[in-house]
Amino acid sequence: MATMHSTTYLLTASVLVLFFCGDGAVINCEADDEEPWSYHGKTNGPSAWGETYQDCYGSNQSPIAIKTAETVIDADTGKLQMKNYDVPITKATIVNNGHSAQITPKDDVARTIEVEGSVYTFQQLHFHWGSRYDQGSEHTLDGERYALEAHFVHTNKENAIAVVGVFFQSSTHNSEGFEPIVEVLSDIPFKNDFTDLKSDLVLEELLPSNPSDYYHYDGSLTTPGCNEGVAWFILKGVMEMGEQQLAELRDLYSTTKDKDYAGCKLTDNYRPLQPLNDRVVIETSN
Ligand SMILES: [Zn+2]
Repeated sequence: MATMHSTTYLLTASVLVLFFCGDGAVINCEADDEEPWSYHGKTNGPSAWGETYQDCYGSNQSPIAIKTAETVIDADTGKLQMKNYDVPITKATIVNNGHSAQITPKDDVARTIEVEGSVYTFQQLHFHWGSRYDQGSEHTLDGERYALEAHFVHTNKENAIAVVGVFFQSSTHNSEGFEPIVEVLSDIPFKNDFTDLKSDLVLEELLPSNPSDYYHYDGSLTTPGCNEGVAWFILKGVMEMGEQQLAELRDLYSTTKDKDYAGCKLTDNYRPLQPLNDRVVIETSN
């Protein structure tokens, strides 16, 4: 009798766990459709972006599926030289913009990447994540989608954009480098909420040990206006962050507090894969 009882209990517990895991993926947000664009709106989701933002229908769009069997290894591809990524960001703003959590440094340190003689200065960092551990990243690598993709956005003097993308997989261990971000997320639950970081953020701690190992291709912004001419550097090294830290991100909302926000969890904020068309993905050989 006791055995039967505990079996029933276990079954009930499993059903509850399944229900709660699945629940995270259900996004039913009417307020999404009041926005110019959204990830989950019925009328303004990713397949409709091009109706308002023509470039989203372009032929060199991001993100893409990276297939290592089809990349071109280029021994001449320059190393990605990073400067001042180890200098702590002592002043920065973080905003919930309804599509992501975005961090902009406010100090006067120039953090730069240089590739083949072109220097790009770091402007902001934001993330794309999923409602489950096996979805969230925008790019895929041999069919795999990671829990989160971090985008380090840079511009050069000509205002050309270069984005460094880093995959994070879900882990039982929290990422210490991520803590300065996670600790303020509860202060920015709704769209347009912003605050300052309380602890120093070191970009280098969010990068794999060999940031010179990457996949490179020419693509676009992954959000409207989907501007093309963006140089992408997707780093090969995959980082880890805590499932607990991911849960804090999934607790943000995509809408303002005055709306009916209950079904408006800010999650699964990744654009569907775009066709590669005539493009080639270059891979470093180091
Ligand atoms: Zn992004």
